[in-house]
Amino acid sequence: MHTAVNDPEHGFCRDCLTPQPNAAPRCARCGSPRLVRHPELYRLHLAHIDCDAFYAAVEKRDNPALKDRPVIVGGGKRGVVSTACYIARINGVRSAMPMFKALEACPEAVVIKPDMEKYARVGREVRAMMQDLTPLVEPISIDEAFLDLAGTERLHGMPPAIVLARFEKRLEREIGITASVGLSYCKFLAKVASDFRKPRGFSVIGEAEAHDFLAMQPVTLIWGVGKAFAATLERDGIRTIGQLQKMEQAELMRRYGSMGNRLYHLSRGRDERVVSADRDTKSVSAETTFDQDFGKMDDLVPVLRALSEKVSARLKKAGLAGRTVVLKLKSNDFRIRTRNRQLEDPTRLADRIFSTGLELLRREIDGTKYRLLGIGVSDLCDAGKADPPDLVDTRSHKRALAEGAIDALRDKFGRGAVETGYTFGRGHRGKPARPGEDDEPDVRHPWERI
Ligand SMILES: [Mg+2]
Repeated sequence: MHTAVNDPEHGFCRDCLTPQPNAAPRCARCGSPRLVRHPELYRLHLAHIDCDAFYAAVEKRDNPALKDRPVIVGGGKRGVVSTACYIARINGVRSAMPMFKALEACPEAVVIKPDMEKYARVGREVRAMMQDLTPLVEPISIDEAFLDLAGTERLHGMPPAIVLARFEKRLEREIGITASVGLSYCKFLAKVASDFRKPRGFSVIGEAEAHDFLAMQPVTLIWGVGKAFAATLERDGIRTIGQLQKMEQAELMRRYGSMGNRLYHLSRGRDERVVSADRDTKSVSAETTFDQDFGKMDDLVPVLRALSEKVSARLKKAGLAGRTVVLKLKSNDFRIRTRNRQLEDPTRLADRIFSTGLELLRREIDGTKYRLLGIGVSDLCDAGKADPPDLVDTRSHKRALAEGAIDALRDKFGRGAVETGYTFGRGHRGKPARPGEDDEPDVRHPWERI
């Protein structure tokens, strides 16, 4: 892939942070080849930072004997790969690959069982370090976040680009892991940029080049276009973002609904979403649009259960819990209803999210037919405060223990290994009408759509 990182007019060295006076391939001061140049380098302030092979990097840090060995973090022989280090990746190991396949590709790999508590702890240290750069840090998962550094130049005495390069160095020195930075003018392209040159990357996508850069890219680069939706587009003869750039907004919306609107804007490099650090208004959620409209509990409950489990899994992955459960319904005349309930303690358990959602849902069964159901939690906090053993309701504690056991089984044997009574054999009800529509980042604003 190509990006105009090497504009000769501007730039600095990522190793000694010195601005470069000329277009030489190496730093005029320290001789390092790791230079950043871009015409918009000192104007851009929206960044996406993503740690490189995070779990594996933490394990390597804690055991230097693993430094030059292929490391896979994941569940036993019958589990899947959670994270593979870059040496293992060169040998063909990928995330989510079944472990037996990964070991076929790379028999000499060292397999390590995930230690989520440790990763959450290191993740919090990384986040605290990000918050030294700007208060506007929006975490997406345990090891990645968006940062808006607008207006921080006076505070730091240097432009955001150099602040970010200094952050990468500090992360390596003080925490002992590496990250990749994407710098752009919008969230979409900042995230695309951070993915460019992993590991230890620093990539810039400017406003002037965005349209032409995107034209060459596959549709899967667009946020929310998963494998299934890409297959739908492929059937319609659409493979590149350039093809989307030539299509009218109305046509895209007629064909793909709200996703069409997203395709229209993102294909043109337009993304108005702001970076928000306001945890109070943020939620973790999942929603589904049905193939047909439903108005009865019997039809809606299995979907609610499946979505609650999805939300719970996302919370657990991000090390978060939430105090308010939010139910969202869209009726067949496109009216949206949202209903909230605050809990005594924050939760991340599928069972509590589901049972609270169920109470809210019961009151909305009034003959209305719904085309969409969503469930989420807001008022987020760290998972440490969630679901204390409940002295009054010992059953809820037992349920929490049971859920922990189910999670462990799923970690080991995959999501399909355990189905609850509510979803068993009825998964088809919960399928989004447009594949990939729920293919969202793990943490996002409530029901955010651009
Ligand atoms: Mg990462």
